[in-house]
Amino acid sequence: MTDFSRTRALFHIPAGTIYLDGNSLGPLPIAAKERVARMMAEEWGGQLIKGWNGAGWFMQPRTIGNRIGKLIGAPEGTVVMGDTLSIKVHQALASALELNPERKVVLSDSGNFPSDLYIAQGLLKSLGRGHVLKVVEPEEVGAAIDESVAVLMLTEVDYRTGRLHDMKALTGRAHAAGALAVWDLAHSAGALPIDVTAAAADFAVGCTYKYLNGGPGAPAFIYVAPRHLETARPVLSGWLGHAAPFAFDLDYRPGAGIDRMRCGTPPVIALAALDAALDAWEGVDMADVRRQSIRLCDLFIREVEARCADLTLNSPRDGAARGSQVSFRHPEGYAIMQALIARGVIGDFRAPDAIRFGFTPLYIGEAEVMGAVEILADIMTKRLWDKAEFKRKAAVT
Ligand SMILES: *Cc1c(COP(=O)(O)O)cnc(C)c1O
Repeated sequence: MTDFSRTRALFHIPAGTIYLDGNSLGPLPIAAKERVARMMAEEWGGQLIKGWNGAGWFMQPRTIGNRIGKLIGAPEGTVVMGDTLSIKVHQALASALELNPERKVVLSDSGNFPSDLYIAQGLLKSLGRGHVLKVVEPEEVGAAIDESVAVLMLTEVDYRTGRLHDMKALTGRAHAAGALAVWDLAHSAGALPIDVTAAAADFAVGCTYKYLNGGPGAPAFIYVAPRHLETARPVLSGWLGHAAPFAFDLDYRPGAGIDRMRCGTPPVIALAALDAALDAWEGVDMADVRRQSIRLCDLFIREVEARCADLTLNSPRDGAARGSQVSFRHPEGYAIMQALIARGVIGDFRAPDAIRFGFTPLYIGEAEVMGAVEILADIMTKRLWDKAEFKRKAAVT
């Protein structure tokens, strides 16, 4: 049984804050702060450029990729770190399309995160080969998989509603129709058990600043199934993905296996923070995390519905069909969220009208859920959100 009181002590949560936004930006792991300070002083400061070999900087994208691999069911040597998630979506989709060259349709859904759709639109346009992006409702994805589809590109957990796709079933359908499957695990990694191997995903990508607590702008990961490792062509063919970067050849040759998905110089300071953040998962059973996350989400839904009649559930009621987040709708959702944040309950707002809350058993328990409901109910029954100061939109919501 996972000891969540141990994991809770690993994070810095400011006093007076109930943090229900770890689905968007995980809190600071105390060890990450210490690791970065040490990295700056001893590695960058003390070793200077010798750190690339001496402190293992060069291998970090691989060694940390292997740690992420353990959390997503990927074997050693199939996950590598680098760049942002949007860029990894581009890499994965471009490589997948090349592996299925006769077909022209990329199938996705309207619950996907816009950046994934934008990246697909940009890529298809620059390919200039008549590809189309077909976007259907999440419930219609299965039926829309046919023999025109080159690549099924989905995000497992819907960023707004928390609705969970069946990765294994949909990948199976895609393969039966001759398509490849690219999965975005942004809201899954660190939130629920994932097994890219059992699901037979072709490519998977994800970020590390949400449930993995790697810090703002932490680097993303990409997984390539072993069967594609030596055939997938990296479109972002940078020097660190070359077979011999320090031979400085004029022509590109892809590196062996997952190394080819590297592009340029890795963000070493950010990787140090992430490496320390991943220590929190030692001794954590993801099945325990899942069970507790469903319990916390169910409790939140039940209490909010009992006490805040004006809020409409925007997430699946069935825990098995939901990721680790819950959202409610209200026309004044933005102001309600600002009023909550002013009282120390931090979630976020997603247009047009959703207030969203992430439940992260590593550092959130029943007491926080009940505390948040108490404040939310107070704000709703007394209309405390109805103030000009809560209606001014900031750049980041
Ligand atoms: C958070 C998220 C992103 C963000 O991409 P970045 O490049 O890291 O800004 C992309 N896709 C999905 C599905 C996300 O949830």
